[in-house]
Amino acid sequence: MEKEEKIIELIGVEKIFDGEQAVENMNLYVRKGEFITILGPSGCGKSTTLRMIAGFEMPDSGKILLNGKDITNVPPYERPINTVFQRYALFPHLNVYDNIAFGLKLKKFRNTYKTSDGKIVTKTEKLSKDVIDAKVSRVLKLVDLEEFEKRDVTTLSGGQQQRIAIARAIVNEPEILLLDEPLGALDLKMRKDMQLELKEMHKKLGITFIYVTHDQEEALTMSDTIVVMKDGTIQQIGTPKDIYNEPKNAFVADFIGESNIFSGTMVGKTKVRFINKVFDCVDDFPLNEKVDVVVRPEDVFLVDEGKGQVDGVIISSIFKGVHYEMTFVVGKTEIVIQDTMERKVGERCSVIIKPDDIHIMAKEFDCNRYDGYITKKNTVCFADGEFACDVTQLYEGSHLDEEGYLITADCEKIDLTDVDVSVEVGLKDIEIIDNDVDGDACGTIIQIVYKGDHYQIIIRTDKEEEDFVVDTEYTWNENDRVSVKIPADKIKLKLKAVTK
Ligand code: ADP
Ligand code: MG
Repeated sequence: MEKEEKIIELIGVEKIFDGEQAVENMNLYVRKGEFITILGPSGCGKSTTLRMIAGFEMPDSGKILLNGKDITNVPPYERPINTVFQRYALFPHLNVYDNIAFGLKLKKFRNTYKTSDGKIVTKTEKLSKDVIDAKVSRVLKLVDLEEFEKRDVTTLSGGQQQRIAIARAIVNEPEILLLDEPLGALDLKMRKDMQLELKEMHKKLGITFIYVTHDQEEALTMSDTIVVMKDGTIQQIGTPKDIYNEPKNAFVADFIGESNIFSGTMVGKTKVRFINKVFDCVDDFPLNEKVDVVVRPEDVFLVDEGKGQVDGVIISSIFKGVHYEMTFVVGKTEIVIQDTMERKVGERCSVIIKPDDIHIMAKEFDCNRYDGYITKKNTVCFADGEFACDVTQLYEGSHLDEEGYLITADCEKIDLTDVDVSVEVGLKDIEIIDNDVDGDACGTIIQIVYKGDHYQIIIRTDKEEEDFVVDTEYTWNENDRVSVKIPADKIKLKLKAVTK
């Protein structure tokens, strides 16, 4: 590794609140002087991560290193780290000077010196007024609020108050500044200005900034490195450019910018099929692999009908200041397109997507998912089959009466016939039977991949061409006709959200 100093390192850090994992096996390092941003939707564990770095929260497992030393058990006030929160938390009864000097006045340090008779003495001392004055005016200059010392903090605007909060955090000369959505309470204009100022301050101070936001644009403009989080786990770490241009999965692509995400299948070397059409692409994935295909709205070109790769029709168009945002429909699939030239609603046209604008990502495949519906007999139909299942999982605390109606915990009687559900089945929960009659759905084995200690087999059904992906230790052959059985308790059902 090149010589890059890691100032902070999280190794296998986890945090659990009331049995729920807020942060999962987090491995991350921050380089000295870096501006790193943790980005993710609300509740994904950003603040918890920051609070563990600050020492306000103890990890349940894993450790945190500062300059290579384990600080997991070091209390917050002994860490050279300061935090700026969204709510500026200034003392309203103190003026600007006293707000900033507050911590400095309490600070004690050990001073060692030689007396005239050569003895070495160590004394605990406080900072002198001159030193404090100098420090306060230095930081006020940094946040562009010189001459504001005597002002009452309650007379300042939100942006000014937040600058005071930043001044108060940096006056202690921390090695690391943590900022938890520090601009969240400001209006858009102020936020934009402060983004630039913070970036400037980072340059001037030369210290490490660990920044938290749920705003992707903010992360893209300010950071050297972005860490994208979802559900307590890191999805991707990279420069803003990497994250924008080469998102690792559909979540990152979607979160980072507006994107079209299609379900696709690899049908040849650098050939992917989506929206019912085969496109050339540049990413190579195994044949028949199910993939997510991401295309940015600005990378779809509209041309006259018959002149592009796929024909369709424009169903909406909105002017967005510099470009039009149009929705183009092919069959049932909608594609969002941005273009400076408008095509009117109802116009039939065609699109071109160039190979290097097609970003292919492995689908995170952890279980089989299907759309299904419940029958009169309380079985569930999906993937060309009908399966016994437990419908009471759809309503917590429910049971079935003698006639087979579902009775909810509140004693409401519900007829589930034809109710749409989403179905999940684990890869290991499907049994393959070597004929196409004894199981509950049948199909042909189209792919077998050896995964080191087991085979992953894909069975495609005849009519709907749905796939069962099965992990098994047994060997099968491609093109075998088989059927599948799934234990009722392994079929996970959820009610589909009602859409209007
Ligand atoms: P973010 O900052 O990304 O919005 P947080 O780190 O605040 O997310 O929260 C992550 C998860 O942990 C959330 O589900 C939240 O409800 C939970 N959580 C955070 N702090 C606590 C706490 N002190 N007690 C219980 N649950 C918490
Ligand atoms: Mg938060």
